[in-house]
Amino acid sequence: MPELTDLSVIRALCEKYDFALSKGFGQNFIINPGIPTKIVDASGVDKRYGVIEIGPGIGVLTKELAKRAAKVVSIEVDERLPPLLAETMAGVDNFKLVLQDVLKVDLKALIAEEFPGMPVAVCANLPYYITSPIVMKLLGDRLPIESLTVMVQKEAADRLAAVPGTRASSAISCAVNYYATSKLMFTAAPGSFYPAPKVTSAVVRMDIRPTPAVQVEDEAGYFALVRAAFGQRRKTAANAIAGGLNLPKEKVIAAIESAGFDARIRPEALTLEDFAKIQQALS
Ligand code: SAM
Repeated sequence: MPELTDLSVIRALCEKYDFALSKGFGQNFIINPGIPTKIVDASGVDKRYGVIEIGPGIGVLTKELAKRAAKVVSIEVDERLPPLLAETMAGVDNFKLVLQDVLKVDLKALIAEEFPGMPVAVCANLPYYITSPIVMKLLGDRLPIESLTVMVQKEAADRLAAVPGTRASSAISCAVNYYATSKLMFTAAPGSFYPAPKVTSAVVRMDIRPTPAVQVEDEAGYFALVRAAFGQRRKTAANAIAGGLNLPKEKVIAAIESAGFDARIRPEALTLEDFAKIQQALS
């Protein structure tokens, strides 16, 4: 099989199967031949691993994963892609395609069925339009996985990799850090993809923590508080929490102060521990 990063090969496949890349499904295929290897290197996956890939496209990253992992299960939503993948993945016997929207897949059941007794990692060039819902599902479902290594928009990568309590932090940085440690691995220029997106991309690796970074009694309430705090840009945490959770502002200020912070503190300045203290003071 010729190189799937070769634009003339991609064009020929598209023509043969009457396939036009869909913007709606976030289809920007990798055409930089160095990138699939770099993503798999970043994931740390080897022959012991079962890998879940989201969005195989025509299989450029899938092939590299299948070469280096024990087994790859790729989840793809686009019903037009299976015939192309049947051609590009022909003869690869440790690969399986699941044709479904990843947000609707029961991943716990899939892992139990496909990867018994194996360490499992997620590795993908994500469809950028649903980066946050996918990452939140993968982390929030408490799946028995070791890590997620994902190519996303650079801006999203910065948020996924930001440490709570620092300037670049946001609600998703807090959620990621609660479940995992995260690291920005490398960036990729728009020209590495076909069609070229308008933005730079980056790969982030998240390693799942054995236990969450902070202990909280009411997890749903904790995340509601974090989301509310970041919900209104440029507001103080107190104003945003009061507005977002529909609480009297005086009560929120009193809780923030009794937790040991200035009433005007901004949400980016708060760590996961700090939010836990504020939650406790509020309850
Ligand atoms: N892995 C290929 C590559 O790197 O060249 C394609 C990556 S492309 C950025 C994103 C892929 O995700 C596309 O194949 C797209 O059809 C698929 N996709 C989009 N939404 C999806 C969803 N909800 N569930 C599963 N796959 C999805």
